Amino acid sequence: MLVDTHCHLDFEQFDPDRDAVIRRAVDAGIGYFVNIGSTLASSGAACKLAAEYAEVYAGVGVHPHDADSFNQETEDKLRELALKNKVVAIGETGLDYYRNLSSEACQLNAFNKQIKLAKDLNLPLVVHSRQAEGQVIRVLRSAMPLKAVIHCFSGDEGFLRECLSLGFFISFTCNITYKKAQGLRDLVKLVPLEKLMLETDAPYLSPEGFRGKRNEPAQVKLLAEAVSLTKGISTKEIADTTTGNAKDFFRLG
Ligand SMILES: [Zn+2]
Repeated sequence: MLVDTHCHLDFEQFDPDRDAVIRRAVDAGIGYFVNIGSTLASSGAACKLAAEYAEVYAGVGVHPHDADSFNQETEDKLRELALKNKVVAIGETGLDYYRNLSSEACQLNAFNKQIKLAKDLNLPLVVHSRQAEGQVIRVLRSAMPLKAVIHCFSGDEGFLRECLSLGFFISFTCNITYKKAQGLRDLVKLVPLEKLMLETDAPYLSPEGFRGKRNEPAQVKLLAEAVSLTKGISTKEIADTTTGNAKDFFRLG
């Protein structure tokens, strides 16, 4: 069994065939999906999907891209959603200084508020970090103790080692299969199996051979094979361990 620990099945890209996508993934051996919210509306939709499908769980949060709109009302509504059945994480939240779609001040505010929410409710945090590694580590370190996963890992070795030293989990997406991603594959080798999780971030980041197409959770299988090749560990052991990690981390099942 495999787990897609970060996907966006609520996005409109899945409107035409969402049910078929989920069935296809279940048939491919994906036992659980964590559908991650990126806005208040998307977090609500994640909760709906979790209510509808036994295999789907929800994360509720506001992405750094949407941090400009984060206010007290957002915070109150997120807290309400977070108390719903099958909500297993706060996120995604974090900092994105690559696209800077929201101001740095608003991103920091929304990040800090969502960290506090995660701690208040004893839920793990799903962290998005893009070209903001130094600041992300400063914020997270000052909030310890904290249970967190750094999703779609894209930092350097120094950032990776800091995250591991704080006990965080690291999750990789299908972009590790790209021809030019040797640097990322070298980092996959450095992550201890007991700290590793798998995710598609679907509809984004389709694996090599499928680039430009919509990604979907069934591709976690291909990702597990890529991690197996990279680490020189059997696909079965990768699947068993990352599934165990995901079930413990998000308290699935
Ligand atoms: Zn995402």
